[in-house]
Amino acid sequence: MFTRCSAVGAQQEREANGSQEAEGRGNRELRSKRDGDELGRVMSSPARRVVTFHYTLRDPEGHLLDTSTGGEAIAYLEGASMIIDGLEEELRAFEAGAKTTITVPAVKAYGERDDEQVRKVPRNVLPVEGEFKVGDQFQTAPDRGAPVVTVVAVEDDGVLLDANHPLAGVDLTFEVELLETRAASAAEIEHGHVHGPSGHCD
Ligand SMILES: [Zn+2]
Repeated sequence: MFTRCSAVGAQQEREANGSQEAEGRGNRELRSKRDGDELGRVMSSPARRVVTFHYTLRDPEGHLLDTSTGGEAIAYLEGASMIIDGLEEELRAFEAGAKTTITVPAVKAYGERDDEQVRKVPRNVLPVEGEFKVGDQFQTAPDRGAPVVTVVAVEDDGVLLDANHPLAGVDLTFEVELLETRAASAAEIEHGHVHGPSGHCD
């Protein structure tokens, strides 16, 4: 979900979200020169923060999708596209100690579903051993950030794969507890990631 000190990882994140981040920077500069009520919230905390939080993620039916509770809290640098944009936008309004519930519409989370992303693939081109069954998920490349495809049907002449993100089209509800908010250091902003307690890449 985030990269601590791998410059390569951070770079990939930036490339994946390149235009967005550039746009974000532009907006920030623009905002600082403007007065405006709806921009007030952004203006009140112009510095980029490092935010550490726990979350529990549910779908609209209330099913548990994911949680950090009981594990390591998530830390992100604002403006670095480390967490989904829709969540980060909302969390800007909160400080350490806050507990809140935020619903992020699919379009601001993993996007709407795209039926074009469902394709039949001949079995023999799939580098996977054994039987396929509906619901199986595979990463399309070895690295952890690689896209995931889901088997939606198994037919005689091939397997129907859905390359939509598993959470595409799903409105996401996050129960969030902010553990720490602090100003990002110059080095963190320059590197584009969060540094640990020792103050540098560790
Ligand atoms: Zn670093």
